[in-house]
Amino acid sequence: MSELAERRAELAANLALVRTRIELACGQAGRDPHEVSLIVVTKYFPASDVRLLLDLGVHHYGENRDQEAGPKCAELRADAPAAPAVSSAPELTMHFIGQLQTNKAGSVARYADVVHTVDRPRLVSALDRGAQAAGRRLRALVQVDLEPERDPNRGGARPEDALTIAEAVDTAAHLELGGVMAVAPLGADPDEAFAALARVARGIQVRFPSASWVSAGMSGDLEAAVRHGATHLRVGTAILGSRPHLR
Ligand SMILES: *Cc1c(COP(=O)(O)O)cnc(C)c1O
Repeated sequence: MSELAERRAELAANLALVRTRIELACGQAGRDPHEVSLIVVTKYFPASDVRLLLDLGVHHYGENRDQEAGPKCAELRADAPAAPAVSSAPELTMHFIGQLQTNKAGSVARYADVVHTVDRPRLVSALDRGAQAAGRRLRALVQVDLEPERDPNRGGARPEDALTIAEAVDTAAHLELGGVMAVAPLGADPDEAFAALARVARGIQVRFPSASWVSAGMSGDLEAAVRHGATHLRVGTAILGSRPHLR
């Protein structure tokens, strides 16, 4: 078997396992698996893996660093023969899931379809300007920090500030409010964390009913996320394997 065929078989097997986990979790939670989208987090892995995943039926991929995501995305979009200049390849949706510095917002706005990590008003305006300059509309999720103790170096808005950020996104002409996103705090009970996220999501949905996305759950805690209403799971390691430590 060629290296590429081997990698394809490995990804296919891992993907099948993760899909089974999602189906089981949905079954236990009384949810329809079609309500839950899988975003495969391909950070540190090459565009060739994203191509294999696309071939295996994955339509959403996630990246967390502009300097890696930009070139990878350009490479993938160059694949589509004579892709129309404006519409991004519809079969592949690019999710930006990393901490985003305001000065990188213009770059990310050129290629991301969804930005999961909107956590402060200045980033809202920077992304809005970037999307306008690129002639695009971006879907934006409000990232909520679920750690009990505030650390300004960590991303995410305080739960009590999430609605204010959502309002800012809703007002931005080139952004569309999608919902909320969070990472469960390390060492904490993910069920508690995702229950708290669900409360924030409901508070925002009272005001903005179409902001229905809840991006939560990774390789280790996707079942808990499904139990608490996640609509988008961000799974890396369980599908691609351990990330290389260098780079
Ligand atoms: C890397 C990353 C993931 C994927 O984590 P795994 O444990 O590899 O599944 C999910 N969400 C965010 C924000 C990440 O940075």
